[in-house]
Amino acid sequence: NTFAEIDLGEALNLNIQRCKYVKPTPVQRNAIPILAAGRDLMACAQTGSGKTAAFCFPIISGIMKDQHIERPRGVRGVYPLAVILSPTRELACQIHDEARKFSYQTGVKVVVAYGGTPVNQQIRELERGVDILVATPGRLNDLLERGRVSLQMVKFLALDEADRMLDMGFEPQIRKIVQQMDMPPPGVRQTMLFSATFPREIQRLASDFLSNYIFLAV
Ligand code: AMP
Repeated sequence: NTFAEIDLGEALNLNIQRCKYVKPTPVQRNAIPILAAGRDLMACAQTGSGKTAAFCFPIISGIMKDQHIERPRGVRGVYPLAVILSPTRELACQIHDEARKFSYQTGVKVVVAYGGTPVNQQIRELERGVDILVATPGRLNDLLERGRVSLQMVKFLALDEADRMLDMGFEPQIRKIVQQMDMPPPGVRQTMLFSATFPREIQRLASDFLSNYIFLAV
């Protein structure tokens, strides 16, 4: 029951050691094998449970295996392979900071985009390349409308604090974002939804976005 026993790829395992994570938290111990096996997941997770690593490790590990994949460039902006949606700028920045530590020397590039600040600097940052895009739903929609980001190559989608995103009224934006991932060519997307509560609206989101998913309550 240590991270060393889970094969996430050499570079990522080394970063986990650097972060001084030795023992997985309960949500990590349960979620990581499910996600590493490619399954969709809806997980009950509170702040402080270690959920960030629970979705970041399988995403980074998966992207390390997919980095050779050819991506188009130009007309529709940049093509991230993973999108992590977060309700607030603060949480998005926290996830970005952690994901960057975990992806050190893996070649996986993480960029964050959130509202309330001028969009141009974020666009320039994106143009330098992005594998994992951490974003708030409003700003990501803005970038999509401006033609700066295409979601057609997205293989991993994580919705963090999904109940808070719905409380904040982001459901229409989230639905628009996921619709763009369903445009042709139809890829295989792995979707993970983390939430502290499971009202009917969250269950509906899960049945609309996740396929054949596992529900994890720890
Ligand atoms: P989170 O719930 O993802 O916001 O994580 C809460 C805090 O716990 C963060 O400061 C993490 O860096 C830390 N953390 C997460 N997983 C572990 C772990 N397995 N071992 C030690 N610290 C951890």
